[in-house]
Amino acid sequence: MTESIIESRLKLVKDRIKAVALSSGRDPKTVRLVVVSKTVPADRILAAIKAGVADLGENYVQEAREKIEVLGEEKVSWHFIGHLQSNKAKYAVRLFDMIHSVDSLKLAKELNKRAGAIGKVQKILVQVNISGEATKSGIETEQAVDLVRQIAPLENLDVSGLMTMPPYFNAPDKVRPYFRALKGLQDIIRKEGIANVHMTELSMGMTGDFEAAIQEGATLVRIGTAIFGERV
Ligand SMILES: *Cc1c(COP(=O)(O)O)cnc(C)c1O
Repeated sequence: MTESIIESRLKLVKDRIKAVALSSGRDPKTVRLVVVSKTVPADRILAAIKAGVADLGENYVQEAREKIEVLGEEKVSWHFIGHLQSNKAKYAVRLFDMIHSVDSLKLAKELNKRAGAIGKVQKILVQVNISGEATKSGIETEQAVDLVRQIAPLENLDVSGLMTMPPYFNAPDKVRPYFRALKGLQDIIRKEGIANVHMTELSMGMTGDFEAAIQEGATLVRIGTAIFGERV
């Protein structure tokens, strides 16, 4: 795929983000586009960066590491959006500006320790299994407030918000209730006023449903296919 195709797809997605933000009474600047580049080779990611992408999302530590080695000089923020094992925490804190998928105290403690060792305050999101499906990762909704409370005192972590991955219906109106539920949970946690917890971010919405997510309050949308095409 040529650079110009990436560029025109990117423009299309940005226009759609802007339009839906405005029509739901939101400032488009409050919605950040995280372009998901899993399986996409570094040269195509570079084309996306040249076309103006500022945030990139990766699912696998090793894959991201190889790409960031090549693209590390570029001024972009890297987001980790996949399942993270504690034994990869050491690499994750070095590579990523934000980790979207913290779903246990064990992982949070490990990230805190590793971030501290390199003098970093790591931005994290708590991933919530808002649909309650057994196959989905994330902390159960009922336990999310407690987990946030337990993570809050870890001084090398900044709990910036919540992330979810609802069941895939390719039908925005079926996933909308899950987006709304995550927003509701964010409101509940905000009201708790827990120290060290900012809770400003909501990472939700992908290629098939990002407009619904923005209408329900997403501040970070994670979009791959609409920019790079179908993954092989
Ligand atoms: C792959 C992936 C995305 C992007 O999905 P698309 O449908 O290609 O936009 C978003 N979030 C997570 C967690 C993913 O794994």
